[in-house]
Amino acid sequence: MSLTLRCLLGYWEPVPINEIEIRSETGASMANERDPEATLEQWKDEMQAEHKDAIENPDPDEDHGIEAVMQVNYRLYYEYDTESASLERAREKQVDELADPELLACSCGVRGMTRPEARAHIEAVRSG
Ligand SMILES: [Zn+2]
Repeated sequence: MSLTLRCLLGYWEPVPINEIEIRSETGASMANERDPEATLEQWKDEMQAEHKDAIENPDPDEDHGIEAVMQVNYRLYYEYDTESASLERAREKQVDELADPELLACSCGVRGMTRPEARAHIEAVRSG
C-alpha cells in the first residue's frame, strides 16, 4: 500500500494514498477528469473513423442516392399599400444562382461527404 502525508490540524500523518480525494480548485473531483483537448481529439478520430467506415461500407439493405439541400436567395421588394396601411410584397429578384454545396449526403443517412467521398460511397455501393 502506498502512503502519503496528510496535514491534519498542523500535524503530518501518513495515510493510504487511495484514501485521499484529489480535488481541483473548483472542488470537482479530478479522478475522472481528462484533458478536454485530448478527449476532443479522440472523439474527432472516432468520428472520422466511423465516417470513413460508413462511406466505404455502405449498408446493402438501404437505398443509396447522393443528395443535397441548397438555398437560393431572393431580394424581396415591398410596397406600402395606403388603403390597408400595410406592406405588400411587390416583386422579387433572384440574388444568386443555385450552386452545388461543398458537402453531400446519401439517402442512406451518411452525411457531410466531400465530393470525392460521395463518389467513393457510390462506387462502393455499385461494387458491393
Ligand atoms: Zn448511402
